[in-house]
Amino acid sequence: MALVLLLFVLFWLGRDGDKQESAKPDVKISEFKIPGGVFEDSERMASVKVVEPKDKVQKPAVVERHGIALILDDVGYDLPALRRALAFPWPLTIAILPDAPHAKKAAVLAHAAGHPVMLHMPMEPLSQRYRDQMDASFIRVGMDRDKVRQLMRDALVRVPFVEGVNNHMGSRLTALEKPMRWVMQVCSEQKLFFVDSRTSNNSVAARLARESGLRWGARRVFLDDSIKPEKLAESWRLARAHLAKTGSVIVIAHPHKESLDFLAHLGTTDQAVIVPLKQLLRVAKKPAVAAHSGDSRR
Ligand SMILES: [Zn+2]
Repeated sequence: MALVLLLFVLFWLGRDGDKQESAKPDVKISEFKIPGGVFEDSERMASVKVVEPKDKVQKPAVVERHGIALILDDVGYDLPALRRALAFPWPLTIAILPDAPHAKKAAVLAHAAGHPVMLHMPMEPLSQRYRDQMDASFIRVGMDRDKVRQLMRDALVRVPFVEGVNNHMGSRLTALEKPMRWVMQVCSEQKLFFVDSRTSNNSVAARLARESGLRWGARRVFLDDSIKPEKLAESWRLARAHLAKTGSVIVIAHPHKESLDFLAHLGTTDQAVIVPLKQLLRVAKKPAVAAHSGDSRR
């Protein structure tokens, strides 16, 4: 019996020993590291979950749709101009022409600099001046669904990292429901947003993007319809006025030297209102924005 008792006591002591062993931390705090660096105090603090009284718990911050978003169109020809634009200290979205000689390189540069890339999809314009510039990449009136889809697919292969699409020219095509619906179908399949460049007051693009369930937006101001310094300043004032009135403005600029000179000299209060484009995109099935001025020259 004594032997049984002794064995029993030894057994329990052994278990205790195991417990103490397993209760030791596997990793000493001083050795603890996170991927990419040492576990800093600030990060340690951030990882601590503070349980607040219920009435103090704040809801997750809702990103406000407020600000001016800038898209740089017609990118893919002038890489030095693009590099200059990518160095601006505020958010900029880069819209690249699929048939431009440096389309792919431009997309790689923009992406590497942390700027979103858009496909600047060529679409048939009205005026002869612009029609003369149409190449094989343009979606034209009368093309069937397969051809439109093929042009979109080809363009997306030429421009990597695309997150959204806007129309290059298109004052004729964007007024037509059928081809624009096919464009939106491809955007939907590829999970791309769409911004209506609004080169025509008759454009149905924004409405069809919304009806197709895409994130969408519409250009409000062209910065550089004229590249005279006083006209650039006037366009920017117009953008600021729309911002004060509506709280959300999409501005399209082009990589002209004069445009980039103007943007390079924006003051700090102007720079402060520039936000990422994606922050201003609307979610589908919300009421449409009122129609606003657009020119039909493109
Ligand atoms: Zn364009």
